[in-house]
Amino acid sequence: MTTQTKLPVVPITELEQSAFCQTEEELESKSLVEEFAVGVRWQRIPKKYLGLSPEIIGKRIQKAKKMLGQKVVVLGHHYQRDEVIQFADYTGDSFKLSKYAASQNNAEYIIFCGVHFMAETADILTNDDQNVILPNMTAGCSMADMAITDDVLDCWDDLGSVLKNKIVTPITYMNSTADIKSLCGENDGVVCTSSNAEQTFEWALKKQGKILFLPDQHLGRNTASRMGVSDDEMIVWDPFKSLGGNSEEDINKSKIILWKGHCSVHTRFTLEQIKKARHKHNDVKVIVHPECTPDVVDNADLYGSTEFIINQVSNSKPGTTWAIGTEINLVNRLAKENQDKNIFCLDSIVCPCATMYRIHPAYLLWVLEGLVEQNPTNVVQVAPDKKKNARKALDLMLSLS
Ligand code: SF4
Repeated sequence: MTTQTKLPVVPITELEQSAFCQTEEELESKSLVEEFAVGVRWQRIPKKYLGLSPEIIGKRIQKAKKMLGQKVVVLGHHYQRDEVIQFADYTGDSFKLSKYAASQNNAEYIIFCGVHFMAETADILTNDDQNVILPNMTAGCSMADMAITDDVLDCWDDLGSVLKNKIVTPITYMNSTADIKSLCGENDGVVCTSSNAEQTFEWALKKQGKILFLPDQHLGRNTASRMGVSDDEMIVWDPFKSLGGNSEEDINKSKIILWKGHCSVHTRFTLEQIKKARHKHNDVKVIVHPECTPDVVDNADLYGSTEFIINQVSNSKPGTTWAIGTEINLVNRLAKENQDKNIFCLDSIVCPCATMYRIHPAYLLWVLEGLVEQNPTNVVQVAPDKKKNARKALDLMLSLS
């Protein structure tokens, strides 16, 4: 047996999650030096960028972008701050943006305003002569950080010893490192997004084996439950416990093995918040992301990916009321863009995704001005062997959907 009881490690990104929570509606960027004051540990940046006001930064970003022209494409994930999104050439969720990146053959540099696994995915999907830049290298994802390569390899070895020749298909959510995507590709597994998880589960279950789903236990459980898999056919693998905290018998009996990871943003939403929203607005529609816990997803009116939430809310009738369970920057933007509807976040405490929030506009300015000076910084490169296997798992996902 490879896994032994270890002391749990909480990713620093998870610890920072509440640093920028507030009860006010607006989340306005301050200078970097002011934002650093709450004690966050972000990538070091030259001192000259620390005291710049968001207005000065905005003007300099515009100037640098103009000078670089078509050589550079800026991608902005929906969970980014408005002060960053305003400079994005394309906005979208992680997969949509990676596909955009792959279609931008003329762009020498792709600046991905998102988190590390997204920049890695873009590097896997783009040509070798294109460079993907992440403005702040510490912009990780607390969920992806919960599936450390060594822990996953230990789990894989343990499953091999316990299950002998039985088939186990590894499926990883897009929100995972290139290493984990590569492990899936190497072992006949696949990547999935929140919009095609069901198709990948269906495909894997047809092989008459088991699924190891990484790293989000809630997306895994929500998907499998909808497909009729019962709770007693699912086990959770805790990487800090021997055999993931399971007996050999449990592992043998299980159909789905769920890695014990979660999203620190989406697990903030609760059943109580849904009840409160329904009590206050009897016509409210509750829509949440499938990274929320199963009780929240089960009690919402609708659930789905970020793009699904945007489409549902944007295409709804004027006068409708929406309580949304997803990242606050997106909810605020939807409220601004749909002023004929009543839109609010399920959680009254405003908490951005702490890791997405690490892309302060000063970091975007820093990497853009670096390119103007022909000095690229923060280029994300996935090792060629990992790239090949991860690509295999991504391509399989595309063919299944
Ligand atoms: S919202 Fe959750 S899953 Fe998405 S980047 Fe932030 S921590 Fe990761």
